[in-house]
Amino acid sequence: MMQITMPLNFLGTVYREIRQALVDMGEMFGLLEQPAEVTDKPDAKQLQVEGGRVTLRDVRFSYDADRQILRGVSIDAAAGETVALVGHSGSGKSTIGRLLFRFYDVTGGAIEIDGQDLRDVTQESLRAAIGVVPQDTVLFNDTVGYNIGYGLPSATQQQIEDAARAARIHDFIISLPDGYETTVGERGLKLSGGEKQRVGIARTILKNPAILLLDEATSALDSETEQGIQESLNEMGQGRTVITIAHRLSTVVHADQIVVLEAGEVVEHGTHEGLLAAHGRYARMWARQAAEEDED
Ligand code: ADP
Ligand code: MG
Repeated sequence: MMQITMPLNFLGTVYREIRQALVDMGEMFGLLEQPAEVTDKPDAKQLQVEGGRVTLRDVRFSYDADRQILRGVSIDAAAGETVALVGHSGSGKSTIGRLLFRFYDVTGGAIEIDGQDLRDVTQESLRAAIGVVPQDTVLFNDTVGYNIGYGLPSATQQQIEDAARAARIHDFIISLPDGYETTVGERGLKLSGGEKQRVGIARTILKNPAILLLDEATSALDSETEQGIQESLNEMGQGRTVITIAHRLSTVVHADQIVVLEAGEVVEHGTHEGLLAAHGRYARMWARQAAEEDED
């Protein structure tokens, strides 16, 4: 039995990972077919973004009827705040991101942006309000300029270059043989993980969303590259509401709120200092990561 179940489990994992990567891509580019139940109401309105306050009220969700993933999650991110979601793998962090993008509808409770229920607004206006930087930015087989300009279809070359400057990738791009016309992606010039994330940041700066969703945006990078990218992400977060899913806790120290999730529930909530003083789960996670980093 062992010989048979082990490879099958392994294939199951690979399959889920591939599927998840496709879901993440779909989130970014809207390429994936929507689940049938997510449709605009006939009278759906344009989302009116004021400051970009994000409110989850007792949110419940399951992908499959037989397994509850979120069990009543409440989070209130005031306009301009940075809220970090932390917790073990599988605790439901990315699911919250997918629900915010309305990739699925909640099965209980509600999510609101500036007081408007996501189910009452058009998906187009919702997705225009939220910028996503995922763990790995996916590049199209096209020019690097196109890959940045994708954030704003009406962008001029000047706007694309300004965004690239803000993301600190302009100097790199002009050093390429064809500059902004250089083809990147699978069949073009291969960019490093950090360069790809900078293209993703430039794309998002150009989109200029009120709300930013960062899903382990630096977790695939080495720690030196991570630091530089984290600085750019912090700059991009100025004046926006940021929901950040963090891999390393050192990146969430300055968050206005830290929400600790476990098995789809908020088990702790506070600032870094407050949570350390509480000597609970967050404090233990922090101590464990500090010890691991000492070993490196
Ligand atoms: P985290 O981001 O905290 O690691 P996720 O939100 O990705 O956690 O996953 C939470 C739970 O939901 C996990 O048990 C995961 O296996 C499950 N899950 C994630 N995506 C899907 C999906 N598309 N279909 C079914 N279950 C899923
Ligand atoms: Mg995740």
